[in-house]
Parts: sequence; structure tokens; C-alpha cells
Amino acid sequence: SDSHFPVPTSPRHVDYSLHYPHFFPSPESNSCSQKIEFADIGCGFGGLLISLATLFPDTLMIGMELRDKVTEYVKERILALRVSNPGQYQNASVVRTNSMKYIPNYFEKAQLSKMFFLFPDPHFKEKNHRRRVISPFLLDEYAYAIKPDGIIYTITDVEELGEWMKSCLEDHPMFESLTEEELEADPVVKLLSSATEEGQKVSRNGGQTFKAVYRRIVPAGQS
Ligand code: SAM
Repeated sequence: SDSHFPVPTSPRHVDYSLHYPHFFPSPESNSCSQKIEFADIGCGFGGLLISLATLFPDTLMIGMELRDKVTEYVKERILALRVSNPGQYQNASVVRTNSMKYIPNYFEKAQLSKMFFLFPDPHFKEKNHRRRVISPFLLDEYAYAIKPDGIIYTITDVEELGEWMKSCLEDHPMFESLTEEELEADPVVKLLSSATEEGQKVSRNGGQTFKAVYRRIVPAGQS
């Protein structure tokens, strides 16, 4: 249950020196202005983070994962990569948490430039869709945490879930779809299926995937 992992009381209480010691050598250096910008929600075994870490070496990123053992695995994986590639992977980390409850504890308003929901668990049988990671209610939270022009990436191999995520995003006033050209030009879009363990599994089995990639709009008058 949630009582088994600590939850920071606010984003100011996230100890950056634990996650990114290369960037924040001591807890005091936490007051540094650099913040986490990418969040991989339900990161699983961490494949996406590992790819993004070298693609965006100056950007701090975090995976959020509910399962304890999986989180430990990702932690070890990143530590091993840091050792074998000096100077690299210092910008990636992972935390065990329930992302459906604690996003506001980790991220301030307009902090994130990218948020990922890759192959989330479908939870179709649940009443009121309350356990789905994309819902109108949670999109309000994500719209708060993502900065204007920031991007939310979703992908699934479950068609019904894909349609649900797309319709939630389409109906939300703070998000707009990327154009085909923008999707084509964004190198991160290609990683959604190729870099994640789940995506690789789906493509090995010849499965279809359904993406929805949306931008957090800049509210009128604030451009
Ligand atoms: N994104 C990874 C990928 O594409 O390979 C993993 C996909 S896996 C099917 C879904 C992951 O989400 C699981 O590792 C699960 O433990 C995690 N998860 C489910 N609910 C969660 C929650 N409320 N908070 C954080 N992680 C969660």
C-alpha cells in the first residue's frame, strides 16, 4: 500500500540530490533552478528513460512506477549505466509512487515539458474509469503540471483504450493535437514504441499501436 513509500509533501521537498547527485552534489544544492522536465508515468523497466537520457543529456527526467521490484530494477539499471558510461545517464532517475495520486506532490505548475503514458494498464472493468491514468479529471492535473507548449505522449496496443485516451485529450480545453508534420518531425514519437519494453513486445508480436500526442495549449492572451 501507499504507506510503504515516502511521498514528498510538495515539489520543493523532492530531494534532487538523491536522484541526480551529479547535478546536485548536496541537499543544499536543491535550491538550484534546474527542475525535472520529463516524467514517464508507469515507466515499467525504464527503456524510454534510457533512450531519452542520452538524447536530452541536459534535461532532468524521472520515471514513476508503482511496483517496488520494477522500480528497484530501473534504479539499478541507471546506476550501472552511470558507472559504465562516465558522465552519462546522470539526468535520469526513477521513483516508486502512485502517479494517480501524487503528481502534484512532485511537480509545480508548468514545470514539465514532456509527460509520457506508454502502454498503460487498460483497467476496462473498473466503474467510472476511475483507475485509468488518462481521464478528464487527471488531465486537469496534467494540464497544471505541463508547461504551455509542453507535450503529452500516449500509446497503447489496446484499441479501446487508445480511443478513450484520444477522446479525453480531444475534449479537454487545454490540449490540442499535433499535426502529422509535427509528429513526423518529433524524434521522440519514434521512441514511443521502439524504446519501451512493452512497445518492443507488441512489435515482436506484430501488434497494432494507437498513439495520441497532444500539446498543452498557451491560453489566449498569454503567448
Ligand atoms: N511504460 C512501460 C513500457 O511501455 O514498457 C511499462 C508499461 S506496463 C504495461 C504499465 C506500468 O505502469 C506497469 O509497470 C505498472 O506497474 C505501472 N503502473 C500502473 N499503475 C500505476 C500507478 N498508479 N502509478 C505508477 N505506475 C503505475
